Amino acid sequence: MSTYRAIHEHIEQHPSLPPEAVIKADLLRRGICFTDEALIPPPGADLPQHQPKSYFIFSFDMVKQSELDEAHKWRAPEEIALTGGPLELRRTIVSVRLNPESPYRIVVHEGQRWLETEGQKLAQVALPPFPPYYAEKLTDGRAVAEIAPTIQWGYLIYLTVFRVCQYFGEKEECQFCDINHNYRQQIAAKRPYTGVKKVEDIVAAMEKIAAVENPSKAYTITGGSVTSQIGGESEVEFYSKYVEAIEARFPRRWIGKVVTQAWPVEDVKRLKASGAQIYHPNYEVWDANLFAKLCPGKERYIGHDTWIRRIVEAAEVFGPAKVIPNFVGGIEMAAPYGFTDVEEAVRSTGEGLDFFMSKGITPRFTTWCPEPTTPLGKLNPEGAPLEYHLRLLEVYRDTVEKHNLAPPPGYGEAGPGRAVFSVSPFMDVLGMGEEDQVRSSEALSS
Ligand code: SF4
Repeated sequence: MSTYRAIHEHIEQHPSLPPEAVIKADLLRRGICFTDEALIPPPGADLPQHQPKSYFIFSFDMVKQSELDEAHKWRAPEEIALTGGPLELRRTIVSVRLNPESPYRIVVHEGQRWLETEGQKLAQVALPPFPPYYAEKLTDGRAVAEIAPTIQWGYLIYLTVFRVCQYFGEKEECQFCDINHNYRQQIAAKRPYTGVKKVEDIVAAMEKIAAVENPSKAYTITGGSVTSQIGGESEVEFYSKYVEAIEARFPRRWIGKVVTQAWPVEDVKRLKASGAQIYHPNYEVWDANLFAKLCPGKERYIGHDTWIRRIVEAAEVFGPAKVIPNFVGGIEMAAPYGFTDVEEAVRSTGEGLDFFMSKGITPRFTTWCPEPTTPLGKLNPEGAPLEYHLRLLEVYRDTVEKHNLAPPPGYGEAGPGRAVFSVSPFMDVLGMGEEDQVRSSEALSS
């Protein structure tokens, strides 16, 4: 069946989901490619510039850097915004995951960028504007864009302060994660890419951002796990010092978020005292056996049960709404260990959602990108089926409603046409009012 036909069938079979979320899920799952003229114009061209893909932590591509042509390598945008088209899509922000083999292409037609598949248009495409601070330089000449890139259409400043992980090699790295491979391939591609960012550089970059009008509302401090020490500091000392420095200079200017391992409660208190407002101790996958197989380093050093218990304990420190652990939507269906049946996979993940949400903790998820250098990506280049991603969205939304929870804070507005979270459609399906429902069913019947 053609991709165009399949996507319309999925939209019809999931009438409670906005069509925007269905298309976004498939784009994230399968990636996109561009014709040369649809990419960001080459430097020096007398055309509006746009925000390039920053490789803010992982590659989030379905091919290696070495397999991308020069145009895609350097002139792909960070995100795209879809609107209009035959389904009259509301503005939908989607992270760019490059895949030259994708059935989805961005083309230029009569001077406008369009998303098409098999020659049929799906939506008009806009690229993110070039942030005014991106070309600003630190005193050593490095661009702010490298030290403090922004994603989610400018909402989130993404500060990967440690670009590698001390879980190293196939026996320790999470089987879906390409952080270490990505670092090596970006260095090989000669992209400016700082392994460990200095606190003073982060603060200097934030100064440049704060000096101009822009839509940023939050920052994330994150990076690889620290199993022993880094520069003589423990993991909590290392990551907390960035928050302390930003908050000392710009108290509560942004929502401060931190993504790290699940720490003992004393360390969580230390993080909170640094000024962090939201804590993301990502559990990646709910099923305990899959956690052991897919996160072997985390299993060995911390263990599934301890990880989950620490998430619950952290809620007593931050408050349950401000502990937002991530999982990677789709890896529970990855061969060789994963579920082979969509409903079984969704039931397992749904059990975890119910467990956390019954305690007021609202997890969130990213859509799995099967990067080719990871063990799971090598075995599952197609990722998880679209049907899985759509059933997950339904179960996620229904569990949030069942427990009467609000959309998680720190992600901007929820709902179709409003969400900016770009690496999964979870925010596009929350917070739907009556008007949103009517718009979705109109699109369905058009
Ligand atoms: S702990 Fe796992 S997911 Fe996190 S950076 Fe390390 S390998 Fe990647």
